[in-house]
Amino acid sequence: MAIARVPHYLKVSAVSEDGVYETIEYTKNGSLLLGVQFHPEIEGESYLFDWLISSCHKYLCLVNRDFAIQYPCNYKIVEYHSKYSKCVNDSNMEENTYLSWQVFKKFLYENGYDAEVESAYRSKELQEKIYQKIEQEEGSEYVREHVAKPGFSEHELGLAIDICLKKEDEWLSGFDERLDDFYYFLKDNCANFGFILRYPKGKEKITKYNYEPWHIRFVGNKEIAHSIMDNHKILEEYLSEEY
Ligand SMILES: [Zn+2]
Repeated sequence: MAIARVPHYLKVSAVSEDGVYETIEYTKNGSLLLGVQFHPEIEGESYLFDWLISSCHKYLCLVNRDFAIQYPCNYKIVEYHSKYSKCVNDSNMEENTYLSWQVFKKFLYENGYDAEVESAYRSKELQEKIYQKIEQEEGSEYVREHVAKPGFSEHELGLAIDICLKKEDEWLSGFDERLDDFYYFLKDNCANFGFILRYPKGKEKITKYNYEPWHIRFVGNKEIAHSIMDNHKILEEYLSEEY
């Protein structure tokens, strides 16, 4: 099995073989932080198959183009009703993400930004529907580049939120120059509420996503969020350095 396919930002501290699977473990001070199982058949390559993370670090779990979500996912998803009219059934989120978002949202409002959730928790089925819809509308190359495959989206954890903004009675989202100051403010203040900007500019080679100023990710507390944001890091870099 090609260990070389392990993303460069992860350090391998132990490798063991278990039938058709191969397990790679990331440990710190002797305790398991993250375990990844590879399956050589998936996608025709040695693709990451599974992960585990200890409960004390549960908000640092890594989901990206290479790391799939392990189902069943243990996050408790709570109801949240977005004022954004087009957001019908995917504004729920993980319970502590919800609590932090409530405080962050109030702070944004007090600073003149009427922000809302455009999209948060998505079931795997919903991610599948979104993927297929965009594939039909924009083509397979576009969808591969811009949308996470079902099972590989942070939105399926309930820890990610896409933010939109109401400005002069109009909802704005995505790339829009009228949102420039808001995105700047969001980036500058999200760490105080335990969120990081997950796909920043300049890190596209690692994230394998284009810059997304609207996508924030809850990491559990503001100390961790600050050590990522203040040092212009992303989650992959933080995990590789800290663990
Ligand atoms: Zn998103």
